[in-house]
Amino acid sequence: MQEQADLVLLNGNVITMDISNMYAEAIAIKKNKIFYVGRNEEAKKLINNSTQVIDLNGKFVMPGFIDSHAHLIGLGESLVFINLRNVKSWEEVIKIISNATKYYKPGEWIIGSGWHQEKFNSKPKPNINGYPIHNELSRVTSENPVLLYHASGHAIFANAKAMEIANINKQTTDPKGGTILRDNNGNPIGIFEENAMNLIIKYWEDYLRKRTKEEIKNDYVKKIQLAINECIKNGITSFHDAGEPFEIVDILNQLADSEKLGIRLYVMINDKIEILKEKLKNYKLTTNRFLNIRAIKLYIDGALGSRGAWLHEPYNDLPNHYGSNVTPLRDLEEICDLAINNNFQVSIHAIGDRANHEVLNLYEKIFKKYPDKKNLRWRIEHAQHLNESDIKRFAQLGIIASMQGIHCTSDASFVIERLGDIRAKEGAYAWRKLLDVGTIICNGTDAPVEEISPIKNFYATVTRKTLEGNYFFPEQKMTRLEALKSYTINGAYASFQEDNLGTITKGKLADIVVLSNDLLNCPEDEILSTKVLYTIIDGKVVYSAN
Ligand SMILES: [Zn+2]
Repeated sequence: MQEQADLVLLNGNVITMDISNMYAEAIAIKKNKIFYVGRNEEAKKLINNSTQVIDLNGKFVMPGFIDSHAHLIGLGESLVFINLRNVKSWEEVIKIISNATKYYKPGEWIIGSGWHQEKFNSKPKPNINGYPIHNELSRVTSENPVLLYHASGHAIFANAKAMEIANINKQTTDPKGGTILRDNNGNPIGIFEENAMNLIIKYWEDYLRKRTKEEIKNDYVKKIQLAINECIKNGITSFHDAGEPFEIVDILNQLADSEKLGIRLYVMINDKIEILKEKLKNYKLTTNRFLNIRAIKLYIDGALGSRGAWLHEPYNDLPNHYGSNVTPLRDLEEICDLAINNNFQVSIHAIGDRANHEVLNLYEKIFKKYPDKKNLRWRIEHAQHLNESDIKRFAQLGIIASMQGIHCTSDASFVIERLGDIRAKEGAYAWRKLLDVGTIICNGTDAPVEEISPIKNFYATVTRKTLEGNYFFPEQKMTRLEALKSYTINGAYASFQEDNLGTITKGKLADIVVLSNDLLNCPEDEILSTKVLYTIIDGKVVYSAN
């Protein structure tokens, strides 16, 4: 009997990232794995009545993006305040808030920000002085108080439930320096200006203060789910979470046990040094399809913008200042010892050239001390500014450079101020030099520091062109193929998952993304308009643009 597939993708422009079979036109998936990669006619033979078939019309297909450095809870937090900056009508606000309610339990406050009635294409109907009236939004949010900050920061919108909680009614008088907007009958319409804002806000703050442990946990769960949804929309199928405390790791373990993680998470534990010392021993490693916990995250220095990055020579724009070492080397070494003895991978945040130098020295020392420990794949997160003489050490020591393409272009404006031309040219985001000596670079966004968008990050990686149109030492850019590798197979390698992820290869887990543009060949100025058409995770279509 002929084998049958559950999902077949036909007529694709497939880049598999598997060097033994780089291009294909069709993919067949059975259960959660890739079953066939190759030609349409062969894939068609695997179709039966129950097979889902997608005709891709020549669209670009690649392994799902692996964001190798971002912050899950931070990303979720950035999404909890519903972003209304780009909405074009009050109807759109109602729709967004109404959709959001499914992530909230009854009674939970829904907070949004950024709406501005003057930026709408049409006036809200009905309206008072151009402001919307709450009724329609209140109808779809009867279970939850809603508080939406105006873009100006000088007004808020509150729904009926929020006004009920705050005891606002026709009789409520305006506070000094504030206005409650009212309709012709004197009823509050839901808009509170200036000092009247606090009539509502104080009840939200009260609510936050009174939450139980369970509610705080549920709040984390909601943030996790929002972050995961955001990833899926962006074509991200795996996410390296660059540091969560044990409290969050425990929650993630519970979610994984009940199969509630929609993307694959590779979570680095980051907690206080004393807690790491106490708990790392005997801490159970987790390795399953959706959750891997076998890495820890440490910090040796701060960031360049705030002049916290630890440098060999003083800052160009602050004489005698070298940045700072935020965790004593002694503590870092102690944790590295613990990690290697308990089979944890170590990832240390290092931005400045001195910071990177010290981490390379430390890793080298540890590796020498434990010659029997192999295949360690320890990482340096950011590896942002390197001394020329340290560049080759990454490959020599087998250390992964976990870098963020988009930091280069968004930081470009102040990198030269901080480092001066020579240091910036020689060692800032030195992708080309690192790759040329054989370093494995994995790529990420550091979301929510940057947007979670792999498209914007890919563009920065292959152009080093800022939004203002300037190039930041473009000789260090990656080729498009290298950039795709940094976002797929290298991320899989950096998390010990290259046998299951990172390429479209028979037998691997079926994590695939379909895009509107061919990232390898489209004109450079079209890269940024690339849309995610489908995201497939574990063999299932979890997002489709239509
Ligand atoms: Zn980070």
